[in-house]
Amino acid sequence: MQEPGIGTYLQSDDASTSIDAPTPRSALAIGAHPDDIEFGCGGTLAKWAKRGCRISSVILTDGSKGSWTPGDDPLLLAQRREHEAYNAAARLTGSKDLTFLRVPDGELIRTNELVAHVAAAIRRTQCDVILAHDPWKRYRLHPDHREAGWIALDAIVAARDPLYLPHQEFAAHRPKAALLWEADIVDHYETIKESLEDKFSSLLCHTSQLGTTMGIANPDDPQEISAFHERLIATHRSIGTRAQLELAEEFKILTAL
Ligand SMILES: [Zn+2]
Repeated sequence: MQEPGIGTYLQSDDASTSIDAPTPRSALAIGAHPDDIEFGCGGTLAKWAKRGCRISSVILTDGSKGSWTPGDDPLLLAQRREHEAYNAAARLTGSKDLTFLRVPDGELIRTNELVAHVAAAIRRTQCDVILAHDPWKRYRLHPDHREAGWIALDAIVAARDPLYLPHQEFAAHRPKAALLWEADIVDHYETIKESLEDKFSSLLCHTSQLGTTMGIANPDDPQEISAFHERLIATHRSIGTRAQLELAEEFKILTAL
C-alpha cells in the first residue's frame, strides 16, 4: 500500500486533471441518502478496500421519502434502507462502520450539530480522504445533496482545527484530500476497471430503490437487471473516455484542506 502524502496529490487549482490518487489508509464517505455513496464513489471505495484501505461512511438522512408509491410507510422504508445500506457496504468494501444520522429525508439543513457529528467521524476514523457530494454542482434539483456537500466540507474545517469542538473525545484531524462526486468541475478520475462489478452488485442491494433510481421495474426479470448493468458500464465507459481510461468515476479534488 502506498503511503499517501499531500505532495502526491495534484493541486486542484491546476488546469490539468489527475488520475488515481494513492490508496489512502482510511477513507470516509458522506452521503445524503443510503444509496448515494455507492452511486457516487462505489467503484473507488471498492478498489481502495481491496488494497487495504479502511472504509467508513456517514449517511445523513433516513431515506424515508425514497419511494414513488403513495401510502408507503416512511418509518418502515427508513428501517429497510438502513439494512440495505449495511448489505451494500458489506458487498462493496466489507465495512461495518456506518453511521446513520437519521435526519428526515428531504429536510436536510446544515446545522452546527450535524457538522459536529460528521467532524467527530472524521476525527474518529483519522481518514486521509473524504468523499462527498459537490455542493457547488449547478442546476442540481435535490436539496439534500446540496446540504450534504456543505455539511461534509464544513466538517472538514471543524475536524482539523483543535479549537473547534474541543470537548470531542477524538483529537483534531486534517484529511489530505476531498473527492467530490457529481462534480460541477471535474478534475480527477479514478479508474474502476477492477471494481465496476462490485459497484453494480452493491447497488442491487438497495432493493427498495431498483425502480426509482436504477430503472428496474421488475427485479425478477434478468433482462432488466442486465440492461441496468449495461447502462452502468456505458456511464463509466463514457466517463473513462474523457481521461483515456476504460472505466472510471469522476470527481472534483480538493487538496488544500
Ligand atoms: Zn440521494
